[in-house]
Amino acid sequence: QGAIVVNVRVAPLGDEYILLLADDRTEITRTEAMRNDFVVNVSHELKTPVGAISLLAEAIDGAAGDEVAIRRFASRLHKEAGRLSALVQDIIELSRLQGTDVVLQGRVVDVNAVLGEAVDRNKLPAESKRITISVGGRSDARVFGDPDLLMIAFRNLIDNAIRYSPEGTTVGVGIRSRDGLVQISVTDQGPGIPQDEQDRIFERFYRVDAARSRQTGGTGLGLSIVKHVMSNHGGEVRVWSQPGQGSTFTVRLPMYEEGAEPEILPAG
Ligand code: ADP
Repeated sequence: QGAIVVNVRVAPLGDEYILLLADDRTEITRTEAMRNDFVVNVSHELKTPVGAISLLAEAIDGAAGDEVAIRRFASRLHKEAGRLSALVQDIIELSRLQGTDVVLQGRVVDVNAVLGEAVDRNKLPAESKRITISVGGRSDARVFGDPDLLMIAFRNLIDNAIRYSPEGTTVGVGIRSRDGLVQISVTDQGPGIPQDEQDRIFERFYRVDAARSRQTGGTGLGLSIVKHVMSNHGGEVRVWSQPGQGSTFTVRLPMYEEGAEPEILPAG
C-alpha cells in the first residue's frame, strides 16, 4: 500500500555505460490488485447462495411425499435464487461502472421525476413493513447524466432505508437545489451506523452487520454503486448517522445550466 512499483531493465551500452529503463507500474499494479480482490470477494459471495440452492434442491428431492416440507424448502429456494439474481445484477452494474471505458448515456435529466419514480418503485417493500415514505421539497433543477444510473442510485438509498428500519417507521426523502447543486437526502429511523464505520460502508461488500444485511436481502454492493454513480456524475454521497438515531444519506449533483459544457467523467 502506497508503494511505488517500478519495472527496471538494464542493458549494457558498450564497456563504460549501462542503460537503465525504468517503467512506472504503480497504477497498473494497483488496478490489478483491486481487480483480483474483487474477483476473490465475488467468488466468496456467490458461494453462499449457490451452496444454499444446491442443498435446498437436495432437500426437496429427499422430502418426496412430505408436501409441507417441500413447500417450505421451495420457498427458501425461491428466496436464495432471488438473492443470487440481485447479486449478479449488482456485480454486473458495478463492474460496468468501474471500467475505464464506460461511456455514460448522458442527457439532460429531470431529477425530481427520477426521484419520484425511485420512490414509487419502493412502495411495495415499504408497505410490507408498514413504513411511510414521506417526500418533501421539490426542485425543477436538471442535471446532465444517465437517468437509469441515477435511478439505481436513488433506489439503493431508499431500499437501504427501508430494509434497515424497524416496522411502522417513516423514511423521509427530500430534494432541494442551492448554490448550483441539487441535493437529495434519504433519512430513516433505523439503527444508525457507528462513526468509525461510516467511510467503510461505501466499500464493496463491507457490511456493519453481515447477518442483518443477508437476512434483508442485501448484496453488500448498494452503497458502492451509489458512490460510483455519483463520482461519474461529478457529484458525491455522504452519510450522517448516530447509532440509535437513524441515518441520513445525502447526495449532491451539479445542476445543469443551459449552454454549459456538461462534464461526464469516465468511471474510476
Ligand atoms: P447491503 O446490501 O449490505 O445493504 P450496502 O452497500 O447497501 O450493502 O450497505 C453497506 C452496509 O452499510 C450495510 O450492510 C449496512 O450495514 C450499512 N447500511 C447501509 N444503509 C444503512 C441504513 N440506512 N441504516 C443502517 N445501516 C445501513
